[in-house]
Amino acid sequence: MSSVNPQTKAWQDISQKHHLAPFSDYKDLRPRIITKAKGVYLWDSEGQKILDGMAGLWCTALGYGREELVEAASRQMRELPFYNTFFKTAHPPVLELARTIAEITPGNLNHLFFTGGGSEGNDTMLRLVRHYWASKGMPEKQIIISRKNAYHGSTVAGASLGGMKPMHEQGGLPIPGIVHIAQPYWFAEGGDLDEETFGIQVADELEKKIQALGENKIAAFIAEPIQGAGGVIVPPASYWPRIREILAKYDILFVADEVICGFGRTGEWFGSDYYGNQPDLMTIAKGLTSGYVPMGGLVVSDKVYQQIKEVGDFNHGFTYSGHPVAAAVALENIRILREENIVETVKTQTAPYFQKRLRELCAHPLVGEVRGVGLLGAIELVKDKASRTRYPEAQAVGMMCREHCFNNGLVMRAVGDTMIIAPPLVISKTEVDELVEKATLCLDLTQKQLG
Ligand code: PLP
Repeated sequence: MSSVNPQTKAWQDISQKHHLAPFSDYKDLRPRIITKAKGVYLWDSEGQKILDGMAGLWCTALGYGREELVEAASRQMRELPFYNTFFKTAHPPVLELARTIAEITPGNLNHLFFTGGGSEGNDTMLRLVRHYWASKGMPEKQIIISRKNAYHGSTVAGASLGGMKPMHEQGGLPIPGIVHIAQPYWFAEGGDLDEETFGIQVADELEKKIQALGENKIAAFIAEPIQGAGGVIVPPASYWPRIREILAKYDILFVADEVICGFGRTGEWFGSDYYGNQPDLMTIAKGLTSGYVPMGGLVVSDKVYQQIKEVGDFNHGFTYSGHPVAAAVALENIRILREENIVETVKTQTAPYFQKRLRELCAHPLVGEVRGVGLLGAIELVKDKASRTRYPEAQAVGMMCREHCFNNGLVMRAVGDTMIIAPPLVISKTEVDELVEKATLCLDLTQKQLG
């Protein structure tokens, strides 16, 4: 955006003077100002219409402008805008929501602790699993095993659980008691191995780590079913079965971070359903409310709940744990997802079409791989396809492509030179066509700029 209208400029000036935006370079921050949205489209302060290929930040499952969600929020605000859920109090929406989520989660994940978002959900998980083991007389079981390049949030615990190097470099993270093993990212790290061999090799790192540190020291293993912010890393088919075998051998808890994969993104209610995993705990957020209001949570299995119930008190909570307005919106959001068969439609209609159309981009000279599951997709930009060689980092090809996308009416996010896509679950086939058409144009423009 070179020259902008005076109102846009005024807002950008305020941004520079007063707004510390998340994950942004403050040296010259001139944000694009998004002013309204409807369906799968955004509009910016320059009047440009943009197809939102990232569902906000992976969260607007129902798209924008769903009046029912607005109504649910305003009804609840009139009835009971706030009350806490501390010290033996509750209110109808939080209880109804806990029951509703327990109906759709896999296995016996039946108990809900609500938070303001995903990071707080993972903080809650860390405290709860350590409390669980201590309550069983094993306080030394403290270590959480996570994975490099994972994203589990931005609080001190969330960023420590995550495996993002640039986050660890700021603020002395990770905190003690969190270790990271390799990620199942074949395209970037698989070398000469075929995908399935690589999947087993990387999964085996979990067992090696458990043996090296001692099973008696390990509290839990945490993983996103598909790493989202790391670059939509779809593990090889061999990965999750091998991880399940390892987890079955050792007495440690399995935590699935479903903040991105949950609520239909893979075409199943949860990524754990997609892979047939049976976690002991699940972190949720984003699609829970379609992002209309902030809310997250930790879903706890019967096994874990029965144990901590023995102790009684869990000394943990947030003012907004189970906020009634957020709970009312989440309930309405899940009602719509269910009644309109949205998860089923993703699975049988939209996702197969989206994945087929996206893979057509493999033919583009700049594209080394296209992968995805459900309505999650990734496009790897490369200099040489056969050897999977990327452009030098300094050329920032991903950011170049992202800018072309924005300027041509499409949001695609760049993670290094991986372009990632996660549109609202309600995207139509015609809108998928538009997305792919725009993505092709932006790849062409990037290619041209590279010369
Ligand atoms: N976990 C995963 C997998 C995420 O993708 C995110 C956010 O992107 C989080 C946790 C953190 O959630 P929040 O930003 O709501 O705190």
